[in-house]
Formats: sequence, C-alpha cells, structure tokens
Amino acid sequence: MRIIRANEILELTRRLILDAEFNIGVDVRAALEAALKRETAQPARLALEQILENQRIASEERTPLCQDTGMIVAFVELGQDARVESDAEGGFEEAIQAGARAAFYGGYLRASVVDDPLFERANTRDNSPAVIHARIVGGDRLRMLVMPKGFGSENMSAIRMLPPSAGREGAADFIVDTVRRAGSKPCPPTIVGVGIGGTFEQCALIAKKATARRVGSVHPDPRYAALEDECLARVNALGIGPAGYGGFTTSLAVHIDHAPTHIAGMPVAVNIVCHASRHAEGYI
Ligand code: SF4
Repeated sequence: MRIIRANEILELTRRLILDAEFNIGVDVRAALEAALKRETAQPARLALEQILENQRIASEERTPLCQDTGMIVAFVELGQDARVESDAEGGFEEAIQAGARAAFYGGYLRASVVDDPLFERANTRDNSPAVIHARIVGGDRLRMLVMPKGFGSENMSAIRMLPPSAGREGAADFIVDTVRRAGSKPCPPTIVGVGIGGTFEQCALIAKKATARRVGSVHPDPRYAALEDECLARVNALGIGPAGYGGFTTSLAVHIDHAPTHIAGMPVAVNIVCHASRHAEGYI
C-alpha cells in the first residue's frame, strides 16, 4: 500500500490552481493565434490581439488571466492501492480545501464564493470551498485535474432532458441554440463542452470535463467527431465572434463526451468555458 501524505495533496492542489490561473494551455493559445490569422474585420482582430497580449502578461508576471478567478473545481482519481495519511490540515478533502485556500492567498486571487446561495450570500473571503469530484480507480497514484470556473461562462450552461426521438439533429440544435442564446456573455471565443447521455448529474459532469480536452484533438468515434465539426461550423456561423464583436470565431472547439443512458431518455448538457480556458493536471 502506497502512502500519500495529505500535505502532498495540499501542495499539488495549490500548484495546479496557480498554474491554471496564470497560464493558458499551448493548445488554446495556438487556436487563438490561428483564429487571428482567419479574422479579417478589425474589431475581431483587436479583441483577439488583446486576449493574446493579456495571456502573455499573465504568464510573464504570474498574475491571474482574469479578475474572475473562478470557483475551483477539482476532479480527483485516487488509486485503490494508495492510502492518504492525514497531516495537520486533516485528510483527503481537507487537504484539497487547504490547497485551494493557499492558492487564493499566495496568488492574490479574488474571493468569488458566497456561502449561502439564496439568502445572506456572504463572501467566504478565501474562495472556499472548492468543488471536489473524487473517484476510486486502479493503481496507486493520485491524479488531479483542477478547473477554476468563472461564472460569466458557467451561467450560460444548460441541460435538457431530450427524448431519444430528438436524435442527432435535436442534440445539435440544442448545442448551437445554447451558444446562440449565450451571445457575448461567456467571453468568446469559447470552448463548448457537451455531455450526451448518462443521468442528469452525470451528463453535466461529463460536459464540464469535456471542456478540458486538448483543443485540436479529434474525437476517437468518427460519428461524434463529425457531430463536433458540424456544431463548431454552425456555432461559428452565428457571427458572435471574439468578445462579441462579430467575426468567424465564436468558439475554438466543440468537445463531446458521451455515456450510456436510460432507454427513455437522451440528456444533453452544454458547459461553456471562455477564452480564459483554465485547467491544469498533475499526479502524485
Ligand atoms: S467568462 Fe472568463 S474571461 Fe469572462 S469574466 Fe468570466 S472568467 Fe473572465
């Protein structure tokens, strides 16, 4: 049995959050640069140039990519042959929360979380708590994917419990319509994560994870790859464009993931991330 100390988890969480807050992935940057070459209208070009310049400054000066440093979402896979040993902060979950707080203080991140969502809405003042999704898997390693999520784009997410008869066309129409209704609010160019199948909550989760797939990667199932291409073309034909200034680049990618579902349903969830597509992955 391999021992993983809670402090190691704390440190990994802190490091990954700061990495995600300050640095954009090379895949997203390359897609934005390609978009700049494609765009001809001055407002769209200006928006893309400013987005790229902002990313360069954030990385060089280790400053957040956006004032909305987001709510921290952590997907964690813990190998069943590993055991987490508590440290001063506590065990597994406490270590992740402590790591998120340490990132908040160390990175001067904005406190963006309120406690009660309906009544007091008092700011927790340290960006806690992080949202944790944990799974037990084979092996003896811990894998963590952190995704700080701003709500300009999160608010534009949607889920629909479509009937199976809606089929491919119904799913595509819902995806494109969700992006159309979002307009410029999620700070385009966006990455559109889509979950199809599962149950209500599983569908939303796989949509969120799909946003972290490498931009430029091709879906291994050619049917889903074709659906992704079709949705991306339709979304980019909407003319919303970078920062909503019009143009060819409303989204950089549409990423679909799918799961087995019930005979009576076909849930479709759409989770949108902005051009500050922040995520980082690490292992212990
Ligand atoms: S949607 Fe993204 S870029 Fe826009 S304010 Fe939120 S975090 Fe920042």
